[in-house]
Amino acid sequence: MVDVERELNWAGTYGYLADRIVRVGSVDEARDLVTSGERIRPLGTRHSFNDIADGPGLLVDLTGLPAEVEVAPDRRSATVSAGTRYGLAAVELERQGLALHNMGSLPHISVAGATATATHGSGIGLGALSSAVSAVELLGADGELRTVRRGDPDFDGSVVALGALGLVTRVTVDVQPSYRMRQDAYEDLPWDVFLEHLPEVFVAAYSVCLFTEWDGRVRELLLKSRVPDGAEDIDMPEDILGARRMPPREASDRTTPVDGTVGAWCDRLPHFLISGTPSNGSEIQSEHFVPFAVAAAALDAVAALGDRIRPHLHTAELRTMAADSAWLSPSQGEDVLCIAFTWRKHPEEVAALLPDLEAALAPFGQRPHWGKMSSLDGDAIEALYPRIGGFRDLVRRSDPDGVFRGPFLERIIRP
Ligand SMILES: Cc1cc2nc3c(=O)[nH]c(=O)nc-3n(C[C@H](O)[C@H](O)[C@H](O)COP(=O)(O)OP(=O)(O)OC[C@H]3O[C@@H](n4cnc5c(N)ncnc54)[C@H](O)[C@@H]3O)c2cc1C
Repeated sequence: MVDVERELNWAGTYGYLADRIVRVGSVDEARDLVTSGERIRPLGTRHSFNDIADGPGLLVDLTGLPAEVEVAPDRRSATVSAGTRYGLAAVELERQGLALHNMGSLPHISVAGATATATHGSGIGLGALSSAVSAVELLGADGELRTVRRGDPDFDGSVVALGALGLVTRVTVDVQPSYRMRQDAYEDLPWDVFLEHLPEVFVAAYSVCLFTEWDGRVRELLLKSRVPDGAEDIDMPEDILGARRMPPREASDRTTPVDGTVGAWCDRLPHFLISGTPSNGSEIQSEHFVPFAVAAAALDAVAALGDRIRPHLHTAELRTMAADSAWLSPSQGEDVLCIAFTWRKHPEEVAALLPDLEAALAPFGQRPHWGKMSSLDGDAIEALYPRIGGFRDLVRRSDPDGVFRGPFLERIIRP
C-alpha cells in the first residue's frame, strides 16, 4: 500500500480535497481500509473532470491491483481487474483472438472508472462500455466481497454506480471473436446537409464520430469501419454527401492511424494509442446527451451559441450511444446523441457558459456525462433519471453508514 502524492485529476483541473490518496496492491489491503472507519472513495485513473471521485477521507486507487484478464472457457466473457486500463485489457484480448464491442476515445482510462460513469465510444446499436458488463465484484462497506450478475434484481443499479456501492475489484465483460477495422476521414460536410441527412450520416460505418467548431460545417467525419470476416478490405467512397476524403494520416506517437489501412479493432476504435500520451491535459471537457430522435433540433440550439462557444473551444465531437437498461445510464431507455466539448483551459469562462449551454439543451432533456463538467444541481439530475429512486434505495441498503459518500454523491443521492 502506498501513499500517492499527486493530488490533481489527470487534466490538472480539479484538486482532490481528500485527506489522503492510497494505492492498494491487493484486495486484502483494500479491505483493511474499508473497515478502518474512514470515509472512502474509489479512484481509477483520475480522468474525470469533476469531484465525482472525491471525498473527505481516503481515496483508494485500485490501479495497483495485479492486472488480470481471465477469459471464460466458453470465450464469451472475460474478467478484468478493476483498475486495468481499457487499452491494456484490449491488447490482451486481441492476443487471445477476442474483442470488445467498443472503446472510448482514450484507452488509458480504467475499466471500473469508465464503467462507473457510463463512458462510451460511438456507434448506432452500440451501447456504453458498461452495457457489455455482465458482472461486478464489489468490496462493500462490511468488508465482504460480493458479485452482482446480469439478471440479479440490483444489477441495473450496480454497474453505472458512480463508486457509490463500494470498491469494484473485478469486472466481467462480454467479448466476441476479434475483428478488423479501418479508419477514414472526410472533410467539410456542410452543416445543413448534415442535419438533413443526420440518421444516414451516423450509419455510414460501425462507429461514426464528427468534429465541429460550430462554424457552419462538420470539419471532419471520422468513419471507423468494420471489415467483414473473410473479406480482405472494403471499398470506401471518395465523397460522402459532399464531404471529401482526406489524405491519409498515419499513426503518430499519440494517435491511431486514419489512413484506410486495415488493422486490429483495438488499434482503430480509440482515437489515441495506449503507448502514447494523448495530450498535455490542457483541456476541460463537458458532454451532453440528448435523445437521438431530437438530435437535429438540439444541435441547432447549440449552434445558435456558436459565437460564444468558439473562443473557449478546442473542438466538439458528436457521437451516438445505444439505449440500455442501467438506471443511471445517460442512454437509459433511449438511443442518444452525445455532444462532447473539449474546452480550452478557461475554467471561469467555461463555468459561466455551461448554464446557458445546458439551458439551451434542457428542452431536449439533456443528461450530462457523470465524469465531466456540468452546471446541473441535484434537483435537475433527479428529474432526468426516472430510476434514481431505486438507485438511492440501493445505496442506502448497501452502504447505510455512508462510508462511500462524497460531495458529488451527497448532491445526487442526498443524505
Ligand atoms: C482525454 C479524455 C478522453 C475521454 N474520452 C471519453 C470518451 O471517449 N467517452 C466518454 O464517455 N468519456 C470519456 N472521458 C471521460 C472518462 O472516460 C470518465 O471520466 C471515466 O470515468 C474516467 O475513468 P477513470 O478510471 O479515470 O475514473 P476516475 O475519474 O478515477 O473515477 C470516476 C468514477 O469512477 C469511480 N471508480 C473508479 N474506480 C472505481 C472502482 N474500482 N470501484 C468503484 N468505483 C470506481 C470513482 O469513484 C468515480 O465515481 C474522457 C476523459 C479524458 C480525460
